[in-house]
Amino acid sequence: MLKLAIVGAAGRMGRRLVSLAAADSELACVGAVDVTQVGEDAGVLAGVGTQGVPVVDSLEDVLPTADVIIDFSAATSALPNARLAVAAGRAIVIGTTGLPDADKAELAALADAGGRLVFAPNFSVGINLLFALVRHAATVLGDAYDIEIVEMHHNQKKDAPSGTAERLGEIAAAARGLDYATETAHGRQGMLGPRPQREIGMHSLRGGDVVGEHNVIFATGGERLELGHRASSRDTFARGALRAAKFLATAKPGLYDMQAVLGL
Ligand code: NAD
Repeated sequence: MLKLAIVGAAGRMGRRLVSLAAADSELACVGAVDVTQVGEDAGVLAGVGTQGVPVVDSLEDVLPTADVIIDFSAATSALPNARLAVAAGRAIVIGTTGLPDADKAELAALADAGGRLVFAPNFSVGINLLFALVRHAATVLGDAYDIEIVEMHHNQKKDAPSGTAERLGEIAAAARGLDYATETAHGRQGMLGPRPQREIGMHSLRGGDVVGEHNVIFATGGERLELGHRASSRDTFARGALRAAKFLATAKPGLYDMQAVLGL
């Protein structure tokens, strides 16, 4: 039985993680951490009845009893939680997005120091296959095809573009020999003139309750190829994160992405 502590347990993702873990005979949720709903039972919040796991406001309180931490909380808390988990010899799955580059670099350093981490902007199987398809398409189609990325999410999402869209952009840029950081146009406005060939366009739409949509468009004179993914339920991400937790239970130290977990 793999013992989990879920950070962000009162949130949209956290509740689905608690619910799906309760239905999995290989998993037990032994800790729930959040800054809201403290003292409430995590199972009651998730709609699966009392689990005897009260929400606490400090990861340190539940670290001793957990094997793997799963963090879907806030960009500012992901790295501090990873530091705590690794220092205590616990593995951690990080789904939180919007981390600054410096924090991502420190996750790699934590792995070098013996930590076991999975960090992925998107835990869905379909999206991780899309990553591979976009790499292939960008390589085959080459410089003559303009690349535009369009993502849409619900109106409560804090970061833009989505971590998944950024990853898609990084993959397409690498395949085309572009620098994602300096050669991406985040939206367009005004008299910009013709579109530069060495550019990736990135566009974030926000509205309603959209769980997550990503489209990568390859356009040239005479044709357009679109590769897209639509998530209709958060359960696809939650199931992936639980799969990553099981992967980490026997993994060697390292910083893994979801493609490594899936063996893609
Ligand atoms: P949410 O706002 O519904 O939930 C976040 C929860 O974290 C809230 O309950 C909040 O109170 C809690 N929280 C905030 N700061 C905290 C802290 N310091 N310690 C403990 N808890 C804290 O958001 P959500 O839709 O559940 O998404 C959470 C994160 O996961 C976001 O960064 C989102 O982009 C990301 N996400 C990733 C994937 C993926 O596949 N990687 C999928 C969906 C969402």
